[in-house]
Amino acid sequence: MTTTLAYSELVTLLRAIFLRHGTREDVAALLAENCAMCERDGAHSHGIFRMKGYVDSLSSGWVNGKANPVLEDVAPAFCRVDADNGFAQAALALGRDMAIEKARANGVAILAIRNSHHLSALWPDVEPFAREGFLALSAVNSFACTVPFDGKSALFGTNPIALATPVAGADEPLVFDLATSAMANGDVQISARTGMSLPPNSGVDAQGQPTTDPRAVLDGGALLTFGGHKGSSISMMVELLSAALTGGHFSFEFDWSGHKGAQTPHTGQFILLIDPARGGAERFGLRVETLIERMKAAGVSRLPGDRRLECRRKAARHGIPISQDNLAALEALAVA
Ligand code: NDP
Repeated sequence: MTTTLAYSELVTLLRAIFLRHGTREDVAALLAENCAMCERDGAHSHGIFRMKGYVDSLSSGWVNGKANPVLEDVAPAFCRVDADNGFAQAALALGRDMAIEKARANGVAILAIRNSHHLSALWPDVEPFAREGFLALSAVNSFACTVPFDGKSALFGTNPIALATPVAGADEPLVFDLATSAMANGDVQISARTGMSLPPNSGVDAQGQPTTDPRAVLDGGALLTFGGHKGSSISMMVELLSAALTGGHFSFEFDWSGHKGAQTPHTGQFILLIDPARGGAERFGLRVETLIERMKAAGVSRLPGDRRLECRRKAARHGIPISQDNLAALEALAVA
């Protein structure tokens, strides 16, 4: 049985869960919005499915829900945040205005976040910057569950990368957001729960043999990077930008084994803002529009983000669909 919740109702419920499990008001509000946005947009690998992971990470003492992130102004186009072992979204909220100010002043700005936990999709982090007229690129590394190309053991995270850009004449920015592993780990977990097989070339089992069984990937196996050696290089780039550059942990560098149920990777996040007005094109947004039109003329029927925005529109009309079981589980977490 499925019911529907208005976006605001879901935010209220999720906020209550975060507050119940030890986050400060502002952090609870940020994370509840973030998670509800994912559910609303059909980004199910990072929607309500992740709430138990957030709760277990908080209650096991792995992540600090009341962290006090510290923002540093380090150069004309560079700012960084030590997230104080808290959530990356709170660190981003703290550094956002300074990053925007620097990008407006200098044409570019980097916001480097370290000592942070990110368990969500990346598009909610970059989309608002594109609404302000910026090209925004972000990457975050996660936990060692992906084998580098030609390697024998898991070392990289699923390491997503996202880009958001304004588009002339469009209501919403264009955003793409993808794991550099063959699949997001959350989708492997969802496949395991629902008894679905994985697509070929997604992962290996504990013996390093190719498998389409999600349980074999989760129980000692690993994911592969997308696109062979090319995806592996991009995943390595994410480790370099999000961890080596920011001062965060590499995906293989933290040990959460003493924190039962913890799921929030303790790593770093890289955010780059570019003011497109400083580029060579007179009207950047029009150039983006031209490219999209030519892609459509070439037969492309669906752009990145189209499915997500369609879910968003449907949710605005009909509410966010949630199974009765999932709703009951959320309500239980709010009082547990
Ligand atoms: P998908 O492969 O589902 O989608 C990746 C991108 O491609 C999306 O922008 C999607 O748009 C677009 N897309 C999908 N299918 C098509 C198509 N047929 N034609 C054109 N575009 C298409 O995402 P992933 O499984 O790789 O990642 C899922 C999420 O997991 C991401 O949001 C990522 O940030 C998150 N993640 C977070 C991690 C963390 O540690 N915090 C770790 C790893 C992943 P659309 O959305 O409209 O479908």
